[in-house]
Amino acid sequence: MIQATGITKRYGRFTAVQGLDLEVPDGVVCGLLGPNGAGKTTTIRMVTGMLPPDEGTLRVAGHPMPAGRRRALARLGYLPESAPSYPEMRVAEYLRFRGRILGLDRGTIRRTSDAALDACDLAGVAGRLVGQLSKGFRQRVGLAAALLGDPALLVLDEPTVGLDPRQLRDFRRLVRRLAEERTILLSSHIMQEIEAVADRVVIMHRGRKLADGTIDELRRAAPGRNIGRVSIEVDRRPALESALRAIASQIDGAEIDLATVSQGDLRFEFAGPDRSRECGRAIHESGGVAVELGHESPGLESRFLELLDHERGSQEGAGP
Ligand code: ATP
Repeated sequence: MIQATGITKRYGRFTAVQGLDLEVPDGVVCGLLGPNGAGKTTTIRMVTGMLPPDEGTLRVAGHPMPAGRRRALARLGYLPESAPSYPEMRVAEYLRFRGRILGLDRGTIRRTSDAALDACDLAGVAGRLVGQLSKGFRQRVGLAAALLGDPALLVLDEPTVGLDPRQLRDFRRLVRRLAEERTILLSSHIMQEIEAVADRVVIMHRGRKLADGTIDELRRAAPGRNIGRVSIEVDRRPALESALRAIASQIDGAEIDLATVSQGDLRFEFAGPDRSRECGRAIHESGGVAVELGHESPGLESRFLELLDHERGSQEGAGP
């Protein structure tokens, strides 16, 4: 549905997106994740035909951009970061108005606005003024407007900014439901957001792609941590410590952190894949009791932060 190769966008002398490759297959929910200023909105503006790439090639729904923009736009629904809202219009009236702006014929407007009202659970407020709705409902009105014409591709730029936790949950459910029949590209700077709705994620920073893969692939790429707390006689402690060090030393680059919590209470931690069985055996053999033992599998968040830290490190290392 989206195929971008090496797309670049400059604002004057500033490069906002640099040589980005992006591949979003049909039926997939792809999250663009990155901190503020990463280039997400600029990427979305290129995909939605609002800005032509300065370099690279971009195809949306099979059409080259910007040459095939009109045909691509006919298959695309877009919810911008600050969705235009017409507070003085009633919800159904607003959708008809948007449909006319899009150049849809009357029948298509009627059919797809009714379907969008249903899909976004807005049928009950179709006659209400947009300005009198809560932020969560207004966001759904924006989404319903993006669904006019029944597009195969939905593009949502930071769609949940400003929603409260319940609105957030409802909105995520709605996005998942819409994803059953469409391809979705959505941006966010919140990793939990992407984790909750996306199948794939593209992590961006300073206009470049740092990582690209399924949520599971990225999660697996983060090493996780082995942690334990042991109650043990003081004279048995050296034997346990050396057994734990030996386990950690088999993992590349893992440094064990051993600390006394209280007398007879030892805490340890080291990065890497799950070694809780081996640690449990060592604790048992040294006569200790495991008060706590386990492996913390990292979320996407730690992978994201790790990538940003790594990027920062390499930029600083590059010197002035
Ligand atoms: P945010 O989450 O803050 O919206 P983003 O990842 O969407 O960030 P962009 O809005 O694409 O990032 O901006 C990328 C960079 O380009 C930023 O440094 C921004 O200041 C700059 N930028 C964006 N639009 C323009 C513009 N019209 N003119 C000049 N610079 C711009």
